[in-house]
Amino acid sequence: MLNFLRDINIRELRENNLKLIFGLGALVYITFGILLHTGNVEYRDPVWLRMVILTVSLITLGFALYYKPARKHFINILFGILYLYNAHLYYLLFANNFDPNYKLALLIVTFASILFIQDKRLNLAYLIINLVTHAAILLATNSLSPENISVALLICTTLIIGYFTNSERIDAFRQIKDREAVLNAINNNVYHGIFRINGEDQIIYANENFAHMLGYRSVEEIYNVSRPFIFISQDAARHVNIMKREKKTIKNLEVEIQSNHKGPIWVLLSLTPFFNAKGNLTCYDGAIIDITDRKSAEKELTLFSAAIDHSTVCVAITDKQGCIRYVNPFFTQITGYTPDELFGTKIQQYLLPGDKGVEEMLISLKEDRFWKGEIKHYTKAGKLVTELVSIAPVRNKEGQITNYVIVAEDISKRKEAEEELLRAKEMAEMASKTQEQFLSMVSHELRTPMNAVIGLTNLLLEENPRPDQAENLKILRFSANNLLALINDILDLSKIEAGKLDIAPKEFELNQVLSLIRQTHGIRAKQKNLELILQVSDSIPAVLIGDDFRLSQILNNLVSNAVKFTDQGKVQISVSGKKITDTYAELEFSVSDTGIGIPADKLPHIFEAFSPASMHTNRIYGGTGLGLAITRKLIELQGGSITVHSEAGKGTTFTFTIPYKVSTKKSLPRHQEVHDYSAFNSIRVLLVEDNRINQKVAVKFLKKWDAQVEIAENGQEAISKLQSDAFDLVLMDLQMPVMDGYEATRLIRSNPDLKHIPIIALTASAMSHEREKAFEAGVNDFICKPFVPSEFYGKIAQYTSGTRSQRKTA
Ligand code: ADP
Repeated sequence: MLNFLRDINIRELRENNLKLIFGLGALVYITFGILLHTGNVEYRDPVWLRMVILTVSLITLGFALYYKPARKHFINILFGILYLYNAHLYYLLFANNFDPNYKLALLIVTFASILFIQDKRLNLAYLIINLVTHAAILLATNSLSPENISVALLICTTLIIGYFTNSERIDAFRQIKDREAVLNAINNNVYHGIFRINGEDQIIYANENFAHMLGYRSVEEIYNVSRPFIFISQDAARHVNIMKREKKTIKNLEVEIQSNHKGPIWVLLSLTPFFNAKGNLTCYDGAIIDITDRKSAEKELTLFSAAIDHSTVCVAITDKQGCIRYVNPFFTQITGYTPDELFGTKIQQYLLPGDKGVEEMLISLKEDRFWKGEIKHYTKAGKLVTELVSIAPVRNKEGQITNYVIVAEDISKRKEAEEELLRAKEMAEMASKTQEQFLSMVSHELRTPMNAVIGLTNLLLEENPRPDQAENLKILRFSANNLLALINDILDLSKIEAGKLDIAPKEFELNQVLSLIRQTHGIRAKQKNLELILQVSDSIPAVLIGDDFRLSQILNNLVSNAVKFTDQGKVQISVSGKKITDTYAELEFSVSDTGIGIPADKLPHIFEAFSPASMHTNRIYGGTGLGLAITRKLIELQGGSITVHSEAGKGTTFTFTIPYKVSTKKSLPRHQEVHDYSAFNSIRVLLVEDNRINQKVAVKFLKKWDAQVEIAENGQEAISKLQSDAFDLVLMDLQMPVMDGYEATRLIRSNPDLKHIPIIALTASAMSHEREKAFEAGVNDFICKPFVPSEFYGKIAQYTSGTRSQRKTA
């Protein structure tokens, strides 16, 4: 295609032609000027006519030069005018015996006129007019001298030659024009950018596509560029030099070139050089195709494939039938198969038939849906692996499925770890349950004999013993109580450490707790001649929500220590509000004494179980060395903290804070306070208890308080007794053979005849979850064994008050 261009350089031809036309045009005017103004010529032409013709000619020429599209027509008109003027000159010439020397000049003018008229028909018209005019003038002037005829014939011959020469030239020019138009149309419609660069490295031709590719607005802009695009890219320039040196063509070379203002673009470049006979480069033609999009797609593809190749998940691509077409290296690593072994085989053959995941997958694939789930399969080595697989269908433009992309992650290890964790959790739960059962059992087994010892001691003391016996009994009771405290502490500590000690919040009155503490420790303080002061800030709300039982335990520990380690002076309990709102009260408690104090070196370890300080003082004062360790843990369990400040010989202050919620109530109903054990007026109590000694202790107290007691050995017996006889109250042990207290309580509560009877649970176990379980079963209240007689009496009195007053009036 480009060879055609080599033969005809349309642009050059057009430019040269115009130059020639205007050059000769100028010559024509100069000739006229000479002819008309030398004065050698005699003619009668008026001056104004000559001036008009000259002016019109000049304006037409100027306009034609300036305005390109009109150029052709104006040139035709211009030379037409000159032609007519010529005829007029002939007339003058022949009529006046014009100097023959000027005939040659006239000949040139005429020839030039006819030569440069670019329209074939006009050319012919002018020719005919010229010839007719000549003949007419010759005849009219009657100047048919041999000389004039020969001049006329010469002019005619010249004109005819001029005409044919011009006609041929016009044909050739039109042909060129047509070919140029075709070529331009082709060039501008091809996808390629086409260009020609001459031997001086100047672009001499380019198509529109080329201009657009390189970011130019028009082809003309490119011709003005001093350094063609090709030399801006080092890579392309190097290949151009090779092409020139080795005289060979370049085909489809991928190079990055700089566009005008679109940044770098990637093109596919082809170059064909042309050399003259001497072997010098005349020009080279080139074509470029913009491949920037393809290049960036390739780049992306390279990135993607690198990501897939180095990924630690398995990736496979199958065709619609499930035949494997691609696997990534990790896929082969996991399965143990080589790509060659896998290609062409069906993915289904590697899956476990009947596997739940596989069946689900096949169903969703049948419905053309994306699927994600777990699949088990064997590797080449026979190892069973679990994978988390997702399968996505790939569709073509028409929406038909062409492939499947499979992404799988080996989760065998994670699965194993999960199963391991589950087993460990189950074992931990079992261990925790065993520990809980053990604690519950130990608590029960230790408290039951203690219950007997303390209960019987209390009974003996109530039966007016001799003074010497009373003294011994009191020592026995003191020791038994201490032993019980130690058992309670050890159980508490192990419960805390096992995470089994729960805080049970409920509404309570702080003043109740504090006055009970003062009562409990007041007697001992008085015995030691100590002042026991209680100071409570007025700002503290009356009813709080929290675990009052654990607060009492904390205060009991601290106050009993304070009284124990102080020989003179005072013990002060203070409570203030650190932060109080309508719903929240953070309280600060402090227990201070003027006792022996704690040496500075022992202070840091004071909250540890069996601390060095306790080892030292216990020998003198007695104690378990567990109280403060339990105290701190109990405070922390309730979201508070404790600090100590002490000076040996001067005294000690323990300060702790506990956050509580504030109840909207202003007071709580009072429990019956027991000061005198008035008779129960023969109320009927059913004591459900399997332990003989416990039965004996309870019966002794109940009878002493004038209650009628019936004993049931277990839950089942209790129910049959309740059905056959009427009772005012049930005292229910929880752990019993045959039927335990929980089951019996549930059955009683589900029986419409019995469900209103008050039940008080009696248990040697102090585990909080057992208390909750008992309340869930339906008990009204809870008493821990060994019971404190006053508490035992108080609770029975509370639940039988109505019955007693009825009996009294009866
Ligand atoms: P213990 O049952 O031995 O009192 P605690 O844990 O309650 O166990 O106390 C640990 C030790 O801390 C005590 O043995 C004693 O040495 C010291 N201690 C506790 N409270 C006081 C106090 N108010 N004054 C002096 N020392 C105290």
